[in-house]
Amino acid sequence: MQNTQKMKIIKDLIEMREFSKSAMAAGRKIAFVPTMGFLHEGHRQLLKTARDYGDAVVLSMFVNPTQFGPTEDYKTYPRDIERDLKIATDDGVDAVFMPEVAAMYPAGHQSFVEVTGVTQGLCGAKRPGHFRGVTTVVMKLFNIVAPDVAIFGEKDFQQLAAVKTMVADLNMDVEIIGVPTIRESDGLAMSSRNAYLSPEERIAAAAIPVALEAAQKDFADGGRDAAFITGRVKKILEKEPLVVVEYIEVCDAMNLTQAGQAKPGDRLFVAVRVGRTRLIDNCGF
Ligand code: AMP
Repeated sequence: MQNTQKMKIIKDLIEMREFSKSAMAAGRKIAFVPTMGFLHEGHRQLLKTARDYGDAVVLSMFVNPTQFGPTEDYKTYPRDIERDLKIATDDGVDAVFMPEVAAMYPAGHQSFVEVTGVTQGLCGAKRPGHFRGVTTVVMKLFNIVAPDVAIFGEKDFQQLAAVKTMVADLNMDVEIIGVPTIRESDGLAMSSRNAYLSPEERIAAAAIPVALEAAQKDFADGGRDAAFITGRVKKILEKEPLVVVEYIEVCDAMNLTQAGQAKPGDRLFVAVRVGRTRLIDNCGF
């Protein structure tokens, strides 16, 4: 059902809850897309998927301080609210939830949600506390928005795994849908952080999808040794002097533990720095 009502812009937590309550009372299924704003085609694909799954699409835009480390880019994270609101209107979003930090984390806030296993490796090992911040804010947003279904990108595969694990372990009544990564024409995964890249860095970053494709080809050609696959990926990435590898790992797609031998369904995970920008990507075998 296409939305013909004016999009609601909501900052207040109670007002958000009231919106969801009346949507629910009207028999509308609520599909929720949590983001940090600075929207791109990847986010738009999540909104499109949300429309397929629900009658009321809620988009949140909240740069969540608890998922950033003390030396990370919380303060400089790109923001363009006017542009984001135009995209949301064009994409038929019913409500945009943009809470203030002080409303989400008032003085005295001291409760956190921590998923253990799937957050131990990969970005969890490199960004201590990151996933604790993510699962905490997602739990809070779910409690406020009360969605029937929530849409996340496979671009952040470990985040998707952490949210799915939290929902299953804590018996939460929400369906989690993962959406494949949307890419630029040269294959670079869309990301709000791509805006940080200089023209030279942007060219260097294109080595990431080239490396991922080489790994997929190795696997398709019968390559199973994870060290061989990641070694080839490393070589391709390190051809670019501006790219510094943080990790390259083949992992099981369910529990995200490192694999010695790749099997169908496993995924390759890559994190690099290009200049001062940290980029992540992944692909399946
Ligand atoms: P962010 O605003 O970067 O925190 O991302 C919000 C949501 O959009 C998360 O579920 C991301 O995984 C998803 N997302 C980000 N980039 C992409 C992309 N290129 N393709 C698909 N989903 C994405």
